[in-house]
Amino acid sequence: MILSNWEKKRNQMVDLQIQARGVDDPLVLAAMRKVPRHLFVPPDYEDSAYADRPLPIGYGQTISQPYMVAVMTQALKLQGDERVLEVGTGSGYQAAVLAEIVDHVVSIERIPELAERALKTLRSLGYMNVEVVIGDGSKGYPARAPYDGIIVTAGAPEIPQVLVDQLADGGRLVIPVGDSFQQTLTRVTKKGEKVDIERLEGCIFVPLVGQYGWKENRPESI
Ligand code: SAH
Repeated sequence: MILSNWEKKRNQMVDLQIQARGVDDPLVLAAMRKVPRHLFVPPDYEDSAYADRPLPIGYGQTISQPYMVAVMTQALKLQGDERVLEVGTGSGYQAAVLAEIVDHVVSIERIPELAERALKTLRSLGYMNVEVVIGDGSKGYPARAPYDGIIVTAGAPEIPQVLVDQLADGGRLVIPVGDSFQQTLTRVTKKGEKVDIERLEGCIFVPLVGQYGWKENRPESI
């Protein structure tokens, strides 16, 4: 089989940045070998699409570092038949990785221009199982709840209880929690009336801005 340069770069990204650092979920690795990340970044950054870092996508926002996408996706412990909510669509890349793995993805984004561009990218690549919604995802998206997984790709000051409420029993919420400069990737697992909270690793995200996140007038870092 002849691999394109993009495919070679993508496989290298997975081998050196993701597998080498301990991500071993075969569904996550396969999804990240498949999704054309270079088509989710602005054309000026295409050559850096497979580099080990986040990249700007406009409006002060970023597409996450590939390793972080992999770690967060693995932390959701997906098998394939789930419905997942993503808060913070951004470029749509994380949504595409999820869409490779699960039946249905709902992704909510507060900046309409980003939501619209992400939807276009996703549809042009044939991802029909992703629904993109414009709104304040710090409140979740009750219309499609409950979710087996919720992934928040922006940093929150604390765990929004409304998101926990929208999890199915046994469902997992993966969310960066901390101040606006650094956070701890946190997994909340709903177990009946209780929750199990695990702190996974340090991370740096743009702020979650909304009712249960940071207030609108707070400076948006990065
Ligand atoms: N997952 C994205 C990266 C997201 S960057 C990707 O794969 O490209 C974080 C995104 O969260 C930004 O686009 C930002 O606008 C969005 N965001 C911040 N607060 C939000 C909120 N309350 N609801 C929905 N989206 C939000």
